[in-house]
Amino acid sequence: MPAVAARSSRPATVGLLALQGDFDMHRQVVQNLGRTAYEVRTVHDLAHVDCLIMPGGESTTMRKLMRLGGLFGAIPQFAKSHPIMATCAGLILLSRGIEGAPLEETLGLIDCTVSRNAYGRQYHSFRQSGRVRLPEGETEFEMVFIRAPQIVRIGGSVEIHGSLGDEPTLIRQGNILAMTFHPELSGDGRIHEFFLSQMV
Ligand code: GLN
Repeated sequence: MPAVAARSSRPATVGLLALQGDFDMHRQVVQNLGRTAYEVRTVHDLAHVDCLIMPGGESTTMRKLMRLGGLFGAIPQFAKSHPIMATCAGLILLSRGIEGAPLEETLGLIDCTVSRNAYGRQYHSFRQSGRVRLPEGETEFEMVFIRAPQIVRIGGSVEIHGSLGDEPTLIRQGNILAMTFHPELSGDGRIHEFFLSQMV
């Protein structure tokens, strides 16, 4: 028999950045879609996963914990060959910069600028139907905003995949999909499904 390496048919393992924030709800969506989830807290954990979901939470705290586990340095390297889906605080950390806060360091993996807490405080959280572009076409999606950021600038290589009125809320740059809202809280797995089936 010729020594031809069999292509792995192992199903993808979905990494959940599990330092802080809403990672457990993402796990439920991932498992409901029949995928295996794996909690990522350290650089070592990244070696076990095929993609990464960065949840919402509190970006300053998440940044500190990412530094402690070495992930702040490792994620840009990981992103060169693995897809990432980021929500809310995750998007803030992946952006090029935070409006009005030049000293708050970000990973700069998506060419956009965000404004933190742009809709107000926790109390001003809301859900509203927006539009998203999925493989089946343009459709409505219930968007949950919790102390959400706004995307105030996007670069030329960023595609807009979803919006609320005129504001972009779901963007993609290469193998990174990021959104200002929480798709794990709307009981609608279509954005996760898009990420896992089309990008991973
Ligand atoms: N306001 C939070 C921050 O700036 C993000 C909120 C969220 O992830 N739901 O980090």
